[in-house]
Amino acid sequence: MEAARVGRPDTELAIEYDNQLGELMGLLVQKYGGSSVADVECMNRVARRVFDTQKEGHSVVVVVSAMGKTTDNLISLSRQVSAQPDDREMDMLLSTGEQISVAILAMALHGMGAKAISMTGPQAGISTDKFHTKAKILGIRPERIQSRLDEGFIVIVAGFQGLSPTEDIATLGRGGSDTTAVALAAALNADRCQIFTDVDGVYTADPRVVVQARKLDEVAYDEMLELASLGAKVLQSRAVEFAKKYGVELEVLSSFDRNPGTVVKEEVDTMEHIVVRGVAADKNQAKVTIHHVPDKPGVAASVFKDLAASNVNVDMIVQNVSEAGHTDMSFTTPSDELHRTRSAMEGLVDSVGAAGVNYDDDIAKISIVGVGMRSHSGVAHRMFDTLSRNNINIEMISTSEIKISVVIRREHADKAVQVLHEAFEMHLIQQ
Ligand code: ASP
Ligand code: MG
Repeated sequence: MEAARVGRPDTELAIEYDNQLGELMGLLVQKYGGSSVADVECMNRVARRVFDTQKEGHSVVVVVSAMGKTTDNLISLSRQVSAQPDDREMDMLLSTGEQISVAILAMALHGMGAKAISMTGPQAGISTDKFHTKAKILGIRPERIQSRLDEGFIVIVAGFQGLSPTEDIATLGRGGSDTTAVALAAALNADRCQIFTDVDGVYTADPRVVVQARKLDEVAYDEMLELASLGAKVLQSRAVEFAKKYGVELEVLSSFDRNPGTVVKEEVDTMEHIVVRGVAADKNQAKVTIHHVPDKPGVAASVFKDLAASNVNVDMIVQNVSEAGHTDMSFTTPSDELHRTRSAMEGLVDSVGAAGVNYDDDIAKISIVGVGMRSHSGVAHRMFDTLSRNNINIEMISTSEIKISVVIRREHADKAVQVLHEAFEMHLIQQ
C-alpha cells in the first residue's frame, strides 16, 4: 500500500491520498490536550468518551498530549542540569511525556473492556525533518494504524513527535499534538478531527475579559488562523494551516462536557454576513523604534535583513514622515524575541547611521477579524472611532483583507477588547 506523503512544509505540502484509505468511512481523529488528561480521573473520562465514540459506530484514532504540566516540568528538569540542553536529548526527554499518556489511556480503555493499542509517533509511521524541538512532519505511513483499525482497535498515538531522517525521535514544537492530529486526519482521510480541550469552543473574545462573549458555531480557517496567531491560543497555528491545506474539518470542543463545539472549516458565503467574528488581544508584543535613520534607499532593507538573519519575527512596521532627510522606524516583535532583537540591533544602529533605538514592552496588539470585512465598508472607521471615544490612543495600524490590528498601551487592552466587542455587536452573533 502506498503511504500518504506530506511534502516539505516550507516548500510545497503535498499529500497523495491512497485510494484504499479514501474508502474508510466513519473515521474520527480525536485529540485530547494536556488539561484533558491531567490526572487519572481525566484519563478515565477520556477513555469513556473514546469508547462511547467507538460504540456509536466510528473508527477512532486518539492523539494525546502529555499529562497536565508534564512538558513544562520536563523542560525545567533539563534546565537544572544544563543551561543549554542539546536539542536531540531534549526531544528524547520531551517525547516521554506523551508516551506516558498513550500507555495510561490504553490501560484505562482495557480496564473498560475496549480493544485499544498505543503507539509512539515513529510506530505510527510519522516522519519528520531533522530540526529537533521544532520538527515538521514530512510524511505519514498510516498502514500500521490502518490495519489495527481494521481489526477493531482504538489506536492511540503519542502527539507532538515523529522519527527524523536519522531515525531519532523529534518533537514538533509546543502545542504540536494539534498538528499530529490534523496530519493523521489528513493521511487517513478521516471524516473529522476533533480537538478536545478545556474550553468548549472558539469565542468572539476571551470570555474572562468580555462577559457577553459568544461561542461561535463555526469559523473559517482564515479567521481561525488570524485569531490563533493573535494569542487566542486554542489551536496551534500550524495545525490550522495544515487543516486548511488538506480540507480537514476541525472541531474544537470541551472534554469536560458533551456540548457541541466550534467547527473550523472552509469559508462559506453566509459567513460574510457577520462583519467581525472575533476580537483578540496579544499582550506579548514589544515595540522597537530606531531613531533618526537616514531616509534613503536600502536602509529598511538592511535593517530587516539583519533582523531576519537573527531569526527575529517582525510583525507591524511603521516609518514616520521624514524630516530633514531622517526618519524614525518602528516595528513590533514578540516579547520573548526581544533579547535576540537587542543583540541584532547593537551593530545595526551604527551601520545604518541611526541615532539610537528604544524598546517598549508596554504595548498590546488588538485585532478584529472577520471574512465579512471584505464586503462591508467603514469597518476601520468604526474601530478607530470607538477607540478614540474611549480615549485609547492608537500607535500603529496594520490591515489585511480580513483583519485590522492596532497597537495601543497595554493597560488599555481589556477595555479596548470590551468596547470593540460591543461596537461590532459581537454579542448578537447567533449561536
Ligand atoms: N506536550 C506538548 C506541549 O505541552 C505538546 C502538546 O501538548 O501539544 O507543548
Ligand atoms: Mg494545546
